[in-house]
Amino acid sequence: MSLPTPPDRPSDEPRWSPATLAVTVGRPPHEPDQPLNSPVTMASTYVAGGDLEYGRYANPTWTAFEEALGALEGGRCLAFASGLATAATILDLVGNGATVVAPRHAYNGTVMQLAELEARGRLTARLVDVTDLDAVVKACDDAALVWLESPTNPALEVVDLEAVIEAAHRAGAYVVVDNTFATPLLQRPLELGADLVVHSATKFIAGHSDVLMGAVVTRSDELFTVLKQRRDLVGNAPGPFEAWLALRGLRTLHVRLERAQANAAELARRLGDHPAIEEVRYPGFGAIISVVVAQGALAADLLTRSTRLWVHATSLGGVESTFERRRRWKTEPVTIPDGLVRLSVGIEDVDDLWADLAGALEALPRPSTGG
Ligand SMILES: *Cc1c(COP(=O)(O)O)cnc(C)c1O
Repeated sequence: MSLPTPPDRPSDEPRWSPATLAVTVGRPPHEPDQPLNSPVTMASTYVAGGDLEYGRYANPTWTAFEEALGALEGGRCLAFASGLATAATILDLVGNGATVVAPRHAYNGTVMQLAELEARGRLTARLVDVTDLDAVVKACDDAALVWLESPTNPALEVVDLEAVIEAAHRAGAYVVVDNTFATPLLQRPLELGADLVVHSATKFIAGHSDVLMGAVVTRSDELFTVLKQRRDLVGNAPGPFEAWLALRGLRTLHVRLERAQANAAELARRLGDHPAIEEVRYPGFGAIISVVVAQGALAADLLTRSTRLWVHATSLGGVESTFERRRRWKTEPVTIPDGLVRLSVGIEDVDDLWADLAGALEALPRPSTGG
């Protein structure tokens, strides 16, 4: 796995690589009797006179998590209760009547938030095919905010981030990149000029299918302050235990992703040769694969119920391999093939994963060959 270069840091600080940042940032100082790990601070209020004051404004366990993710993305981070709580907070800041550009295949919950805001007359949502760069650039004109996600979920389309960010900024729009799929180890949108990076920390960052959390990272002090004020006022911050779990997960992100990505690349190759699979979508990095089952939705449903290792479940980015047919959700756009199954590849043994999957694929009804 090739890791990008670390963020710009003051010249007197060591330029640590992402693996080192993931393990070390956000720990208590190396002093006698300090714990190595940041403890869970369960507190609704603090003794007056300091900087923390109240549990809705500050929590040392949030701070530890935020320092670590901020270092990896190269900006200042704020933790939220979920990925969608983060998205809602950002969309809340868009002015009345403004236009927001977003991928038509962005995360379903993000598209639903935009649709709901549009239905209430709050803003105009302009959904675009992110693989059509000219159309996206044109759509940026007069937009207030350009929301990007790359790769998209579950279509796995890859956006030319640099080109779109430049076009959006030329048009005077802010740019948000949902970096949940790539993680800061594979893609660092702030370095490409994005204003905000969003994460569903529920997924790869926390990585163990046991916590809901979100985060935003920015290099702009102004945006950081506005978002922090919003979180203070609304109270959509995570619980301290969630932040602690997410940070515990983040410590091993590079090791988990390296294995999951190697597994995914191998499985994508093998799936591509399988007659029961019509199409494999794998962008060449990350641990998510989408496949279109040749025999359609019923066969895809059968597949997701016929394995012992692969778990039929929504969500992604955990150590355990999961999969689901996305169109089982009524809100998934009809431009996603009915028989598309999204696989979140975990860190199990790749041959065990393949044997389980191949066995279930063998058991599917065969395409009729006419003879
Ligand atoms: C899951 C997900 C979200 C939403 O995050 P929650 O933590 O479930 O609220 C947003 N974007 C992407 C790409 C996701 O996969």
